[in-house]
Amino acid sequence: KAKEAGRARMTLYDPSMDADRQQRNALELDLRIAIESGDLTLAYQPLVDAGTHALTGVEALVRWNRPGHGPVSPEVFIPIAETSGLIESLGLFVLRKACETAKQWPELNVSVNVSPGQFRNPAFTDYVRYVLKQTEIEASRITLEITEGYMIQNPQRTRQSIERLKGLGVKVALDDFGSGFSSIGYLRQFGFDRIKIDRSLVMGVNEDKRQREMLQATVALARSLDIPVTAEGIETEGQAVAMRLFGCDCLQGYLFGKPLAAERITEMLNELRTAEQPTRRRLGAA
Ligand code: C2E
Ligand code: MG
Ligand code: MG
Ligand code: MG
Repeated sequence: KAKEAGRARMTLYDPSMDADRQQRNALELDLRIAIESGDLTLAYQPLVDAGTHALTGVEALVRWNRPGHGPVSPEVFIPIAETSGLIESLGLFVLRKACETAKQWPELNVSVNVSPGQFRNPAFTDYVRYVLKQTEIEASRITLEITEGYMIQNPQRTRQSIERLKGLGVKVALDDFGSGFSSIGYLRQFGFDRIKIDRSLVMGVNEDKRQREMLQATVALARSLDIPVTAEGIETEGQAVAMRLFGCDCLQGYLFGKPLAAERITEMLNELRTAEQPTRRRLGAA
């Protein structure tokens, strides 16, 4: 009988699941250490004017080089930070670092991603206010990028949070628009300062006619609400031209620059400042 029970347990026992959990726990522990010891870094990706391709801002993107493993994608470790209670300290680190760094670049806007777990925290506005004060950054140069996940569940609270954040003087953008369930109804009621069209939509702009039309309609709708639109994931000249024609005023993507170390952005700004030819101020292909 005991043997039978043992066999039953054996069939229920999934060794691969256990290995997954172990790996996850190890990753969570390493992430905790990385946050505490300041081993996370930020990369900054150029944002350019759609018409002139001049550098207008950067988006801060968190980077983690995990000891013994190499770089881990934020798409992997942000969700883990969310479920393990680490998101608040991670988010605080990112915001503070981005605001401190932004002070060296007075001519640039700096975007910072906010995950649903941070946004959900009732104290979030308080710590944004605290960081703004502590770093003495001009609030209007900071844009907080939020995704739609949480908004659909709590539209009322979302609207209040956005209002309070805007009251601090920061801008609030809707990130990854078109990748999920966003609807135009939300756009109006939340008062976003900007919408970012997801890379998955932008990718097909010159390939699939239906995608192209959907994309065009999406940008047109945002613009009918007077909300400026950024296209992310621009990799080709053709995509840049199309997104500009559709009405995007800001472009982001590897064509103009990959996420770079802060020092590279500073160098880039120095070069742009000393360039005599206005055309040399443009990023990406001519
Ligand atoms: P996101 O906010 O939509 O950021 C854009 C992502 O697209 C970045 O990936 C960027 O490197 C990538 N990207 C930009 N242009 C191109 C392009 O032309 N081609 C391709 N293939 N990719 C492009 P990354 O840095 O891996 O970040 C992934 C996501 O992780 C971000 O998506 C954001 O949701 C999240 N994330 C990154 N940093 C942070 C952070 O500091 N805090 C929070 N809460 N989330 C972050
Ligand atoms: Mg973003
Ligand atoms: Mg995005
Ligand atoms: Mg995206």
